[in-house]
Amino acid sequence: MIRPFDAIVIGAGQAGPSLAGRLTAAGMKVALVERKLFGGTCVNTGCMPTKTLVASAYAAHLARRAAEYGVAIDAPIGIDMKRIKSRADIVSANARTNIETWLRGMDGLTVIEGHARFEGPDSIRVGDELLKAPRIFINVGGRASIPDMPGVGTVEVLTNTSILKLDSVPRHLIVVGGSYIGLEFAQMYRRFGAQVTVIEKGPRLIAREDEDVSEAVRDILAAEGIAVRTNAACIGFKPHAEGVAVDVDCTSGEPSVAGSHVLLAVGRRPNTDDLGLDKAGVKVDARGYVAVDEALATNVPGIWALGDCNGRGAFTHTAYNDYEIVAANLLDGAARRVSDRIPGYALYVDPPLGRVGMSETEALKTGRKLLVSKRPMTRVGRAIEKDETKGFIKIIADADTKQILGAAILGTGGDEAIHGVVNMMNAGADYPTLQWAVPIHPTVSELIPTVLGDLKPVG
Ligand SMILES: Cc1cc2nc3c(=O)[nH]c(=O)nc-3n(C[C@H](O)[C@H](O)[C@H](O)COP(=O)(O)OP(=O)(O)OC[C@H]3O[C@@H](n4cnc5c(N)ncnc54)[C@H](O)[C@@H]3O)c2cc1C
Repeated sequence: MIRPFDAIVIGAGQAGPSLAGRLTAAGMKVALVERKLFGGTCVNTGCMPTKTLVASAYAAHLARRAAEYGVAIDAPIGIDMKRIKSRADIVSANARTNIETWLRGMDGLTVIEGHARFEGPDSIRVGDELLKAPRIFINVGGRASIPDMPGVGTVEVLTNTSILKLDSVPRHLIVVGGSYIGLEFAQMYRRFGAQVTVIEKGPRLIAREDEDVSEAVRDILAAEGIAVRTNAACIGFKPHAEGVAVDVDCTSGEPSVAGSHVLLAVGRRPNTDDLGLDKAGVKVDARGYVAVDEALATNVPGIWALGDCNGRGAFTHTAYNDYEIVAANLLDGAARRVSDRIPGYALYVDPPLGRVGMSETEALKTGRKLLVSKRPMTRVGRAIEKDETKGFIKIIADADTKQILGAAILGTGGDEAIHGVVNMMNAGADYPTLQWAVPIHPTVSELIPTVLGDLKPVG
């Protein structure tokens, strides 16, 4: 039996549910198909549980530093990993339930649980059911990539999903991959009491950031006792009496690190390999991301791809913005484009890194005349008062147009303070506009106009 709809949404991640809300409100009969957990990666195995764990790790860290603030804790700091895990589980479960309840109560929406596969450009099979619609929206997200590294099949490797099931602290966690996901887990588990080694094949951590940002993050982690091995050219795995041994380097240093657990955090891959895209004629790129245009339409009329699976963003806010673009173009007669988006994101180590726009390296490559200003957090009153003075604020501007090109705030409150710059860039305001502002004291944000006042030519 064929079930006709006006639209089908595949995936209840960060774009699909809101899109279903707009489409049904516009009077369409919509089917939403979810194969696993409502809320997708962010809610279940990404942002929400990890940031909840980061908060527990911060509490442990601050408790250990209590004496520095004149606060006496007369017993050793204990870690109740079961309680920590349960806190994260509850935060995820509540969000998941809220999304599912909202969707199931949505007028005009049919929620179907199961794995969706295309059977043609307007038809989707879910188990025994064949659904048809003139509009199909793919929001299938991605998963941890497990590349075919030597020996990877001979040991148990954890991913961002399976590590969340641990309810005890590993003796020695080896994190393979020195980028955003790996570093968040590395620092939190160190704070929970594990010995932690980060292994990165490149010459530095978080390679897409400027070198000064990379170095400062490495120093922050090293100061907490996290071992960092970069330039690990020949990473391989083998069983070991302790659990697992990871080969690190063919040329220098200890050639192998033994640990009790290993987390593989070396990238993500889109969930497009088992979606029947070939039957619909939808094109993907060499890495499996669905090819889309500026309006997130695929090469097949009537099919769009939103969120991580289109390779145009890798964040919850970019997935959500994809929904806003598609909905506005389809329902409001707008002409929004994905390239109008100013990229911003945060790395939730502590202190966090807030980022927007270009890095200094990227800006230099554009050949523009640049102005750059940098201020260490040791010269930010709020950071001094909190005794959290690691990191710096850096802002990059175009010397000719006076537009801000990008910024990095690595420091206490950096994930929030960066929005002072995010908002300016989105408003298209030039940097002198902010010189008249009267920011609130004492905050990290209050230094943004001061930093802008110190912009100097570079390059
Ligand atoms: C450890 C970790 C931490 C993160 N932290 C942050 C953060 O702090 N901030 C941030 O912005 N981003 C963060 N992210 C990234 C963020 O989680 C993703 O960018 C976001 O979830 C992408 O949303 P999406 O809607 O594209 O896909 P997803 O959220 O992955 O949702 C896709 C949904 O589609 C379903 N699905 C897939 N295939 C099918 C099919 N064939 N049939 C039916 N259903 C299907 C899946 O089950 C899933 O529910 C993190 C990611 C990880 C892994």
